[in-house]
Amino acid sequence: METIEADVVIVGGGPAGCSCALYSSRADLKTVILDKNPAVGALAITHQIANYPGVPTDISGEDLLNLMRDQCIQYGTDYRRAQVFGVDVNGDWKTVYTPEGTFKGRALVLASGAMGRPASFKGEAEFLGRGVSYCATCDGAFYKGREVAVVGVNKEAIEEAQVLTKFASIVHWITSSDPKQEDVHAQTLINEPNVRHWSRTRLLQIEGADAGVTGITVKNRIQEDKQLLPVEGVFVYMAGSKPITDFLGDQIALKEDGGVVVDDFMSTTSEGVWAIGDIRNTPFKQAVVAASDGCIAAMAIDRFLNSRKSIRVDWVHS
Ligand SMILES: Cc1cc2nc3c(=O)[nH]c(=O)nc-3n(C[C@H](O)[C@H](O)[C@H](O)COP(=O)(O)OP(=O)(O)OC[C@H]3O[C@@H](n4cnc5c(N)ncnc54)[C@H](O)[C@@H]3O)c2cc1C
Repeated sequence: METIEADVVIVGGGPAGCSCALYSSRADLKTVILDKNPAVGALAITHQIANYPGVPTDISGEDLLNLMRDQCIQYGTDYRRAQVFGVDVNGDWKTVYTPEGTFKGRALVLASGAMGRPASFKGEAEFLGRGVSYCATCDGAFYKGREVAVVGVNKEAIEEAQVLTKFASIVHWITSSDPKQEDVHAQTLINEPNVRHWSRTRLLQIEGADAGVTGITVKNRIQEDKQLLPVEGVFVYMAGSKPITDFLGDQIALKEDGGVVVDDFMSTTSEGVWAIGDIRNTPFKQAVVAASDGCIAAMAIDRFLNSRKSIRVDWVHS
């Protein structure tokens, strides 16, 4: 099987991986991206992305990702479809194993993203992008003056519901248990004038039509009857999104929440290995944040491989 050597080997071709490759290729570093499948990452499945600076607000995540991929390929990145199943980070050359061949890099970048939980509510998968969302920061503004529901009782659900109170006419907060009395953020949320809290209530089904979500059916634990709430947006925050790190074994330090530990330069605890984007389990999972991580890592790699004391900026042209 073929063995390919490169300066930089990047695992994952999402916004983090593509932005890193753009910068490293432009810095004249031989760069390979190994991407399992360009259609399954978080950006690829985003129906509409209205908050990526400088691109039309009605662009789909897939189209934006295609632009990013084409741009780094244009500057010399070798993009390959390959699923990484193992790495060896010992020594100066990092080895990456795929069924298509073995890749050796002087720098290894981990950019495989995070895996969302599989859609489990009736209607959730069907209406994803047509009313079902996992990101109020991304999609909240689409629901100005409309009724929405937030499902979940964790910290993320509370923060995102708070974001939605700025836009929606009513935020129905559905929690299967009672939030803790001492949770100040939960109590603040409940006291917002446009929040209706449905405690000890389960989401049974997301209802909709061709144009998207029209409501949700919920049931309180002690009441007999189900109820239909006329919402146009449903924001689901159940536990389950996990950084994709299974191919690392125990070679790289992870945080308690499963994200890879990095420093300010996106460098992991293993010299010569960087981690960028959702694999870090960043508190703000956004395409622009992932792209920024990629830029930082690439500039740090350039310095590392060329033993520069200072970072060489990309925008100085002779
Ligand atoms: C439904 C949804 C809507 C969103 N909406 C927005 C929005 O409107 N605005 C916004 O800014 N952000 C949005 N986000 C968040 C944003 O998409 C992510 O923060 C961003 O895509 C993370 O980039 P990434 O490169 O780290 O990971 P990803 O985009 O997930 O890319 C990871 C890549 O790695 C590949 N990969 C995984 N495992 C392997 C492996 N073993 N070997 C090789 N390749 C592998 C995958 O195939 C994928 O191509 C949304 C996310 C979701 C899920």
